[in-house]
Amino acid sequence: MPVTRLIRVALDVPLARLFDYRCDDPAAAIGARVLVPFGTQRLIGIIIALPETSDVPEHKLRRAFSVLDRDALLQRTDLRLLEFAADYYVHPLGAVVMATLPAALRRVGTRSQAPGAWTLTEAGRALAEDALPPRARAKRTLLGLLREQAVLPHASITAAGSATRQALKAFVAEGWVTATEAPPDTPALSPPPDSAPQLTPDQSSAVDAVTAALGRYQSLLLLGITGSGKTEVYLHAMAAALAQGSQVLLLVPEIALTPQLESLVVARFPDVLVSTLHSGLADVERAERWQSARSGRARIVLGTRLSVFTPLPDLGLIIVDEEHDSSFKQGEGFRYSARDLAVVRARQAGIPVVLGSATPALETYRNAIDGRYQLLALKHRIRAGLPAIRYIDLRRQNTDDGLSPALIAGISERIARGEQSMVFINRRGYAPVLICGSCGWISNCARCSAKLVLHLRDRRLRCHHCGHDSAVPAACPDCGDTDLAPLGQGTQRIEAALTRLFPQARILRIDRDTTRQREAWAQMRNRIRGRDVDILVGTQILAKGHDFPHLNLVGVINADSMLYSNDFRAAERLYALLTQVAGRAGRGTAPGTVLIQTGFPDHPLYAALRDQDFDAFARAQLAERRQAGFPPYVHQALLRAEARDLDTALGFLARAAEAAAGLDGGVTVYDPVPANMMRRAGRERAQLLVQARSRAGLRAFLNAWRPLLAGAESTPARWSLDVDPLDF
Ligand code: ADP
Ligand code: ZN
Ligand code: ZN
Repeated sequence: MPVTRLIRVALDVPLARLFDYRCDDPAAAIGARVLVPFGTQRLIGIIIALPETSDVPEHKLRRAFSVLDRDALLQRTDLRLLEFAADYYVHPLGAVVMATLPAALRRVGTRSQAPGAWTLTEAGRALAEDALPPRARAKRTLLGLLREQAVLPHASITAAGSATRQALKAFVAEGWVTATEAPPDTPALSPPPDSAPQLTPDQSSAVDAVTAALGRYQSLLLLGITGSGKTEVYLHAMAAALAQGSQVLLLVPEIALTPQLESLVVARFPDVLVSTLHSGLADVERAERWQSARSGRARIVLGTRLSVFTPLPDLGLIIVDEEHDSSFKQGEGFRYSARDLAVVRARQAGIPVVLGSATPALETYRNAIDGRYQLLALKHRIRAGLPAIRYIDLRRQNTDDGLSPALIAGISERIARGEQSMVFINRRGYAPVLICGSCGWISNCARCSAKLVLHLRDRRLRCHHCGHDSAVPAACPDCGDTDLAPLGQGTQRIEAALTRLFPQARILRIDRDTTRQREAWAQMRNRIRGRDVDILVGTQILAKGHDFPHLNLVGVINADSMLYSNDFRAAERLYALLTQVAGRAGRGTAPGTVLIQTGFPDHPLYAALRDQDFDAFARAQLAERRQAGFPPYVHQALLRAEARDLDTALGFLARAAEAAAGLDGGVTVYDPVPANMMRRAGRERAQLLVQARSRAGLRAFLNAWRPLLAGAESTPARWSLDVDPLDF
């Protein structure tokens, strides 16, 4: 006689609440997936609670179809993090929970669980020797395997080919086998093998500090200049945590662009299963890797932002590499900061978290200054010294297609010495805009407040925001004149100029257009490391942590365009970007040189950068922020709205502001304004800033405010809340 009980379920629906059902499956447990009716749909949700009573009247409670997991997918500790995130980012818990599950586990009809292994059932074990006819070869082989190995890893079946997989399906249908967990791999208790270099004293004390913190909550900021060997500190700290029987979570901004870290980790811990999680994985693959982390088989998880939510039963250490990187912020849908949640998770779990960067976010650095985070500094480069940073005063030198004589001379010198140079420009395409010399027409995107970028090679005008793509017009659309000219520089134009100036040189352009395929980028890296390239031209992609030992000169083309911006984080971002770019120079044995072209060589940011004095830069910035009342001294949230026309969006925000007026104080609500990029992909965008001195005050306000906004759901405006916004 089945016992019926109540289950409270998180579902991915826009309503910000949980849903109660009746359920008579004895497997109903907190953290298990369940299939339920919702309207006329069948949805998968997660059981969040097993309540005694429900507010829904008895006769209205619907019955759940079935519980999909015999073992709960999520533990209470996992749910605690998700509940925190839902509350802090003011996002429905159901949407949060479901957004963090691998897609394959969210769909009705996919297998409930990618099995770790298979084992014979009673019926399977009872099969007679000659139960299978001789010609059923694959089935006989499978049965043999299952008899030999009580627990047969799923990977062995996959490896055996499609006939064996078919045989397995038949066995499942007959009820001869059942899925089971694979036996956990024994964690490596050995110290890192000899391939690990001898640590420098700075590195050693950093590793000691992390090791000493194992077993309790502590945030540590590893502030290491580029090339100071932060990765080696991570690897040693990981070894210490693994040796204590812990799992390690290593969060990185990007995996596709920086695959060397993955190979380094795998090579350093050969006996340990490493689960790499990123958005480029096929759904089934992602679900399998996620399961191996959840079951405790994978001892290291290396992943991008979403993996901060991966269930890890033995988690003992979290590391966030390049913690300042904006990729840790999810900018759509459920908006969260994986860096910030990593700190929350460490505190909840009572374990240390290491945040590593040469240029930490000012929020992070302030916590280190105030002593909330332990500061670990790596002040010296492992090999050559720091690159010399010099400024080329564009008020005194004319440029040739964007390149100054000093930069051109520097490049020829390096070519003569057989060394590599890199020219950095933060814009792809040929030129950022096309203009008409007769009437002043400019190539605007019709659907965005942005210019169409000229891609000369394919003779196209493209919008980098909405994807608009059209042929370059032969004549001006307004006046018919053919005097159309590109204005400004992009990677393609710099590449063309360099080809003209250095006809003998081997030039390689690296931007999103040339690296769309992962293999293309791997080949390019090999060419660079194999000295098959003299000059690299590229965008931000080149700034990421690559180690190119023969690269000795870095030229920066239009840094000034990022210097003056109405975003209060512009200076912080530019400093970080230029530090990363400069850090590519001189990573071999010869010291490198960085030449930055600018019209403002005396700007304080450039002075701080020349001295590579992050502390001075950060303290000056923080003083300004404190004075002006910007984060981290205040806490912000942005209510964003978009609609067909601007008035609709602004009108929605005005009503939201009115609703806010009735709520408790301590929070400043600003006027609705059009967004910086007012139009995108044909939608008009506006925003409303909310600011508070205290984080708790902001959180309380937002949680009271959100239901009032939801009441306005009938408006034609689409809206979203962004807590701790990075982009305005
Ligand atoms: P960062 O991430 O701080 O920019 P990396 O971790 O990439 O620096 O280290 C820079 C280079 O120095 C790498 O090639 C790394 O293998 C090497 N390295 C790191 N630590 C040591 C060490 N203790 N002895 C010798 N080489 C080291
Ligand atoms: Zn014209
Ligand atoms: Zn556009």
